[in-house]
Amino acid sequence: PTEEYENLRRRIYSNTKEIWYYINHELGKLMTEDIKVEKIQAILDQVADRKRSLLSDQQKLPELDGYHEWRQNEAANVSDLIQRRLKYLQNPPDCREARKVICNLNKGCGFGCQLHHIVYCLIFAYATERTLILNSKGWRYNTKGWDYVFEPISDSCTTAYDDKVMPWPVRYDAKVVSLPFIDSISQKPKFLPLAIPKDLAHRIVRFNGDPASWWIGQMLKYILKPRSSMQKAINETIAKMNFKSPIVGVHIRRTDKVGTEAAFHHIHEYMTHVKDYYDQLELTRVVDVRRVYLATDDANVLEDARKKYPQYEVVGDAGIARTAATHRRYTPQSLAGLLLDLRMLSACDHLVCTFSSQVGRVAYEIMQTNRVDASESFFSLDDIYYFGGQNAHDRRAIMSHNAQGKEDISFQVGDLIGVAGNHWNGYGRGTNKRTNLNGLIPWYKTADHLVLYPFPEYKQVPQ
Ligand code: GDP
Repeated sequence: PTEEYENLRRRIYSNTKEIWYYINHELGKLMTEDIKVEKIQAILDQVADRKRSLLSDQQKLPELDGYHEWRQNEAANVSDLIQRRLKYLQNPPDCREARKVICNLNKGCGFGCQLHHIVYCLIFAYATERTLILNSKGWRYNTKGWDYVFEPISDSCTTAYDDKVMPWPVRYDAKVVSLPFIDSISQKPKFLPLAIPKDLAHRIVRFNGDPASWWIGQMLKYILKPRSSMQKAINETIAKMNFKSPIVGVHIRRTDKVGTEAAFHHIHEYMTHVKDYYDQLELTRVVDVRRVYLATDDANVLEDARKKYPQYEVVGDAGIARTAATHRRYTPQSLAGLLLDLRMLSACDHLVCTFSSQVGRVAYEIMQTNRVDASESFFSLDDIYYFGGQNAHDRRAIMSHNAQGKEDISFQVGDLIGVAGNHWNGYGRGTNKRTNLNGLIPWYKTADHLVLYPFPEYKQVPQ
């Protein structure tokens, strides 16, 4: 390791102690003083600054540890391998004889939800070595079908001919299987998210902090290839925008989502995290303009943001937001706007959104494919990352914990805890699968439990 790396590593260790010295001293003093709000605020500000400095230093670690380039190459290589396997799967030597799975794009939901529907079908296809046939006639975003907007997901195999189609679950090894929506699937296969392929897992974990979403991102990378006319239109719009790094992507999902599937979040809640990002960035570089790319389905939000935050440059298009609103959502025009928003959000340096929205999750999944590791480049105001219809998401206890009160639960090293969410206050909520008790868990004593599934290894495809 270089001298610079060693110094940085020691600095982080020492400054972690410093943060404790500070908190211990200041809170100790408070016990003997009249507690004043201003004093508490001053302590919080100090702690925040010290935290930013620690995080900023830690961000530099992987750049200096000598493996920076290795990680970049490895991420590109594994991604390339998956893309080639998918291409092989989707273009079998003999389409007539190939086993197939049929996926209908008639799910009556938004585009993010439909993309995830195709991802689920493609994972099913990959896991069962079947070519995915996508039926998209009469598609709600473009009645002419998927291939009118995107490159087809196969160049050579797009029909099941007149073979008999068996709906999943099939009792015997049918040649052609059709899939239900993931929400209503019975005998849910273990290979569905958040599982990742066992043969690649040990490569992925070495460069990415959230392999499950990276793997899902790889499916999107294969699926989501706008045709050249659409690509051209997107590029022309981008050229007119002042999209420059540093820039933070903010996705504000309103209209029909609020009150039904998600809580309302004030713009201020998003901007707090944007400010946090820039305050930290400014420790290491000069930021001339604090830029935000704002995507939303509510045009008023853009206007509101520009009025309330004049110190920020808010990039975004009110026209796109207007066509994204509920009543004109399912049109080719609104799809074009959403593709642009997704492209921009995933190209930002950081993303602030709500993972209750599939648009927010898709943006993050694409972001994961755009760089080596985006697992620390976002903040979700509500849910932790998930895939709709996923199998259980567990965390593994890496330290034991004895419940301190009525709300938290005890666990031992190795216990699996089914997680419901993180409260972003140091605690999450979950159920200990050994004791069946549900309650708060100190998040830092647990680690994400990755599910590895023995997917086919596609030995026919060169490594
Ligand atoms: P969810 O309902 O937010 O989970 O995501 P869906 O994609 O299933 O449905 C929401 C739909 O609203 C999208 O497909 C878009 O048509 C529209 N929409 C939501 N947010 C945005 C946005 O930020 N930009 C654009 N252009 N459209 C959006």
